[in-house]
Amino acid sequence: MELLTDSKMFCGCSTQFGRPPNTQVCPVCLGLPGALPVANKKAIELGIKTAIALNCRINNNFLFVRKSYFYPDLPKNFQISQYRDPIAVKGHLYVDDKSIGIARIHLEEDTGKLIHDEKTGLWSCIDFNRSGIPLMEIVTEPEISSPEEAEKFLEKLKRIISYIGVSDCIMEEGSLRCDANISVRKTSDDKLGTKIEVKNMNSFRAVRRALAFEEKRLIELVDKGISVQQETRLWNEQLQITQGMRTKEEAHDYRYFPEPDLLPFNITEDFIYKIRSEIGELPDDREKRFQKDYNLSSYDSKILTSKKSIADYFENAVSFYNKPKLIGNWLQTELLGLLKENHCDIVECKITPEFLAKIVKMVDEKIISNNTGKIILREIFSTGQDPEILVRDKNLVQITDEEEIEKLVQEVLEQYPQAISDYRSGKIQAFGFLMGQIMKKSNNKANPGIVKQFLQKELSKNMDREKE
Ligand SMILES: [Zn+2]
Repeated sequence: MELLTDSKMFCGCSTQFGRPPNTQVCPVCLGLPGALPVANKKAIELGIKTAIALNCRINNNFLFVRKSYFYPDLPKNFQISQYRDPIAVKGHLYVDDKSIGIARIHLEEDTGKLIHDEKTGLWSCIDFNRSGIPLMEIVTEPEISSPEEAEKFLEKLKRIISYIGVSDCIMEEGSLRCDANISVRKTSDDKLGTKIEVKNMNSFRAVRRALAFEEKRLIELVDKGISVQQETRLWNEQLQITQGMRTKEEAHDYRYFPEPDLLPFNITEDFIYKIRSEIGELPDDREKRFQKDYNLSSYDSKILTSKKSIADYFENAVSFYNKPKLIGNWLQTELLGLLKENHCDIVECKITPEFLAKIVKMVDEKIISNNTGKIILREIFSTGQDPEILVRDKNLVQITDEEEIEKLVQEVLEQYPQAISDYRSGKIQAFGFLMGQIMKKSNNKANPGIVKQFLQKELSKNMDREKE
């Protein structure tokens, strides 16, 4: 995954996404002769942060190596990476109470991006803006036992990584990529079967599907007694199948050796301690605390802690109106829906946590109706106005005065005698019609609960009279 740094791994060029091609380059990331790399301190901090969050052992002494291969997107003909002494090893991550081992975490630099002319096939271009962007590779132990578990693992990992601000994990922008290895074996065998590597998946769902496809294909091979050849395969999203790319015979010999232009690193315990103190609460802990402190269901806690920005927003809103369950409901059903509809992030939203709390409070205290609350929410989503002022200026305060409502009910009943006899003759939908007319007459401000009570009372009175 790409790390959230402002500058590249070994030079000062910007990492901003979506800029015009080859505008964020320098001699270092273009691989010009004689250019010397300088390691990005922030990238190393983020690597250590990840290592701590994934319970890894941090290598106090690590170094960078050259991984040699030839490809047009790699101008130096080698990539600066890590091999034998990566930044961290031996961690773990829990997925549904099962511990999945993390074998290693290493840092390296990204390559340039090739753009091919799909129509004529006559030309290809290279954009070096991506060349040298810090990458972090996380390798798991072969302990994930199903395609579903692989998908869950990725979701969990993404939540942690984005929580601690290490990467934005946007698969569509390529800031998170995944290569998955799979093998099958008979339950009677101890040894793992020959592994297949699958690449080119651009969503977690695609990872699950690609692995499920391979699982089925490999089991069929083994059942037929055909031995599996180690190979790399590509997922074809359109056809929903994997296709062979290269076999082991074509695999590279990377000729790893220490990068002579960078000294080995020595990380002090003080440096690690400082990073540890900056991490804050991890998502799993926060989810548990939400259940305990706010008395929320595990489902609600999961959604409200799915992103750090959402969890922060929720706690902030609760600090203005201490009804966590209500705030949580409004946040999940109304606000998150509105954000999704408008492709807006919660941090850019004009409805501040205080405003949401004010709306929930007004609905809870029956100052405004539930429906008015939803309308106000939509309005201040674009205007950013204080909801209390809006309610006062637009005179949206709910009518709860019983005398006033009784009068409204009677007026409407006098106006629609036909609806009354319809209701009496068993046409229940006439009740809804009358409700609607009363609400309309009150400009939607009457409290629907009280209206319903009075309407029921009046209609049954009429029916009693009829019987007499
Ligand atoms: Zn550069």
